[in-house]
Amino acid sequence: MILLEERVRRDGIVREGGVLKVDSFLNHQMDIRLFEEMGKEFARLFAGENVNKILTIEASGIGIACLAAREFGCPVVFAKKSRTINIAGDVWTSRVESFTHGRTYDIIVSKDYLTEKDRVLIIDDFLAMGSALSGLITLVEDASATLVGAGIAIEKAFQPGGDMIRSRGVRVESLARIKSMSVENGIEFC
Ligand code: 5GP
Repeated sequence: MILLEERVRRDGIVREGGVLKVDSFLNHQMDIRLFEEMGKEFARLFAGENVNKILTIEASGIGIACLAAREFGCPVVFAKKSRTINIAGDVWTSRVESFTHGRTYDIIVSKDYLTEKDRVLIIDDFLAMGSALSGLITLVEDASATLVGAGIAIEKAFQPGGDMIRSRGVRVESLARIKSMSVENGIEFC
């Protein structure tokens, strides 16, 4: 998606260690007009899939997921991050390792909001190592819901997450795919 690539090129800041800061329009301050266009693009890509639920993870995925949900006319469920394993039977849980933040946490979704009747589109801001997306996919599988696919804003294609998830047969659509990036040479898209 040219609009997003241009914005990343213009306002994204590449940090040491392969981290891209996009706080000015996506991860802290949010450009809702841009999110609207991203939502429309996800709706175009997944048209005809009868998506009836969007699943994301707190916090950064929620804004994008909401604008996408408006296009699909469906609710958003966001997985909550929890430091403690929830042993109650009323939630689906899985584990996510955050390489960016250097910690592991559990994610939980109430069984009331993710069921076998759902046709789920997962939305997230970034795809890097694939741990967050894997955790969300596990929740969908455990709920016996149908996974339509995953819509990602920015995929760091030089990291293994995208290939790993696609090799599992999951349809992953990323609006901007970064081939390489460095502090010295900037950002190159696929
Ligand atoms: P993964 O689990 O695929 O390694 O990473 C997914 C999550 O890590 C995303 O939801 C995002 O919060 C965060 N993340 C990974 N890489 C980056 C990055 O380069 N920049 C930012 N802002 N977040 C990232």
